[in-house]
Amino acid sequence: MPDPAARPDDLRTAHPDSASEAGPKAAVMGWPVDHSRSPIIHRHWLRDLGLAGDYERLAIAPDDISDLKSILLDHGYVGGNITIPHKEAAFRLADHVDPVARDLGAANTLWFEAGRLCATNTDGYGFLANLDDRVPGWAAAPGKAVVLGAGGAARAVIWALLQRNFDPVIVVNRTLEKAEVLADLFGPRLVATPLADFAAAQRGAGFLVNTTSLGMHGASEFDLPLGGMEEDAVVTDIVYTPLETGLLRQAASRCLRTADGLGMLLHQAVPGFEKWFGRRPEVTARLRQILVDDLDPKTVEETQNRETRA
Ligand code: NAP
Repeated sequence: MPDPAARPDDLRTAHPDSASEAGPKAAVMGWPVDHSRSPIIHRHWLRDLGLAGDYERLAIAPDDISDLKSILLDHGYVGGNITIPHKEAAFRLADHVDPVARDLGAANTLWFEAGRLCATNTDGYGFLANLDDRVPGWAAAPGKAVVLGAGGAARAVIWALLQRNFDPVIVVNRTLEKAEVLADLFGPRLVATPLADFAAAQRGAGFLVNTTSLGMHGASEFDLPLGGMEEDAVVTDIVYTPLETGLLRQAASRCLRTADGLGMLLHQAVPGFEKWFGRRPEVTARLRQILVDDLDPKTVEETQNRETRA
């Protein structure tokens, strides 16, 4: 095991409730990575299933990401999750990528198979599993869907909506060119639209999802009016801080069905855990509540105060 102090790029955070030194170890890797809730999820499952192993945070600076495979091997990781800004790099650096990661050009889950670094992308899976769980029947009659945003997360969401046969998928973005890139990538079922045409875009839609950072704590609020969607339309937001975004509040006030974005985070973690630790974990109400408590601004403030005093 290398000495972390010897590597200025290694900002791995030791955790007081670390599960165990024995057993397989995985990590979430990004830059920065301190905000990641993934260790809470995976350590909960390890404890719940009585499995030996651990899941850590590892900060990897952009200059070091080209060494991804050797970084994993040096730390003895059996794999891990990749978060911003390394998802595209992880896709390029893996020895083998599955068809989903290939479709998206980005990877968020890595594991080793016969010495080869393998990669997939579970964001789209997490998005679908959350909606299946929270809004049963949400895709029973897939018609027109609207996707706000054309960033990294939008790709996975669009991929997922196409899997469930939504048609057309209107991609509304502040920067039209980025939506057009996605339309070229995913084909004729996609229509790129500027934000100024949001009102027309949502007319007759049965599904709307926000994949922009609008509505997130610290970002601007989503302040465009909803209107003209189908009566039983479903509205979801992949932003989960806060859990109830302005968009979801507005949708609920119009009696539309809604789902928040926390379940996407929880469900996207399932396939990775199964690869690394050998058991398929469950997303339970108890795990969701643990995350909800952790996201509570009061809890965040108390944790920060504790860390400052320590
Ligand atoms: P990204 O690649 O940086 O894309 C950001 C998107 O937001 C772009 O479409 C951008 O439009 C748009 N945007 C930003 N500020 C805007 C503004 N003021 N007005 C209008 N549009 C604005 O980010 P990402 O990785 O896709 O992530 C987006 C959000 O999804 C984040 O809040 C992230 O936390 C969340 N997320 C959640 C999950 C989950 O598991 N629930 C998973 C992944 C991401 P332009 O193209 O015009 O810049």
